[in-house]
Amino acid sequence: MKVKGILFVVSAPSGAGKTTLSRKITENCNNIFLSISHTTRPPRVDEIDGDHYHFISKDKFKEMIESGDFIEWAEVHNNYYGTSISNLDIVEKKKKDLLLVIDVQGAEQLRKKYKNGCYIFILPPSMNVLEKRLRERGADSEEGIKIRLKTAEEEIHHYRTYDYIIINDDIDEAVNQLKSIIFAERCRYPNFIPELPDLKL
Ligand code: 5GP
Repeated sequence: MKVKGILFVVSAPSGAGKTTLSRKITENCNNIFLSISHTTRPPRVDEIDGDHYHFISKDKFKEMIESGDFIEWAEVHNNYYGTSISNLDIVEKKKKDLLLVIDVQGAEQLRKKYKNGCYIFILPPSMNVLEKRLRERGADSEEGIKIRLKTAEEEIHHYRTYDYIIINDDIDEAVNQLKSIIFAERCRYPNFIPELPDLKL
């Protein structure tokens, strides 16, 4: 019997491939949903409001902080990002798994509240590859790329506080590893309690 949904928290420096990875997981894995965060960052050309993020103004974000609407929030790359408490209903009320893709500050806040969550860190194979990916993505200015690389160097040291580490060298391999973690966590006691009447457990 599934007791309640599992909270999977994925952190990675910008450009490590976490967006592609998490989207592939929710497309290929049943019963796991992607948490849509709120952000004050402007949308990129291919991003859709309500699908990639809820894009809101700084004033609205501050209002939501004051109303206690976020389970966690952080300032990243000069923008605010946060997870609304209602996103957690999927885990608490619907007993489904939720995948959160958030930065290390947000993960630290959640770890205090959700000790039973599963915390996964995605590393790039090297800083050179990370820089190459950020440039090829073409989403950020030179200044933006510099900020993201600097933040990445700081964030990478936090990998030790996570339960699992995936090195995203090959996306298919990384997807397989993340899927394996999800399947393993679903079998872990007390995430799962067997109900086998004839065994009198
Ligand atoms: P990006 O601007 O590249 O989409 O995201 C920048 C950073 O913000 C990434 O590390 C991403 O994981 C993080 N982020 C996205 N949503 C949230 C959130 O709801 N809370 C926190 N703390 N970080 C988030």
